Amino acid sequence: MRDSETHVAELKKMVEDFRDARDWKQYNDPKNLAEALSIEAAELLECFLWKDKEAVAEKIKNDSVWRERFTEELADVFIYSFHLANDTGTDITEAVKNKIAKNEQKYPIGEWKGKVNKNV
Ligand SMILES: [Mg+2]
Repeated sequence: MRDSETHVAELKKMVEDFRDARDWKQYNDPKNLAEALSIEAAELLECFLWKDKEAVAEKIKNDSVWRERFTEELADVFIYSFHLANDTGTDITEAVKNKIAKNEQKYPIGEWKGKVNKNV
């Protein structure tokens, strides 16, 4: 299963099936899941702690141990995101599409291309 051949619905079901098989849903509520998501995001961020751009580029390219940890933390972020979406009835595809459309209105290309803030 690769990104190019997988639907979001399959991943959402996969994480739900994993949790249901262990009867862990009883320990999850939206607040706990948002907390867990935030903690996993911090673990992802830790992969970059004290490293400059060049060091990160080197890690991505040549450090398989770092790469494995980064990939696992990124997966944890997605897994908790899928749980949070599942448990709140949130359609991720619709949410992302709507948010991108909103951002397109907020940051029109003609005004924002090549800029990261209004002062640059
Ligand atoms: Mg983790």
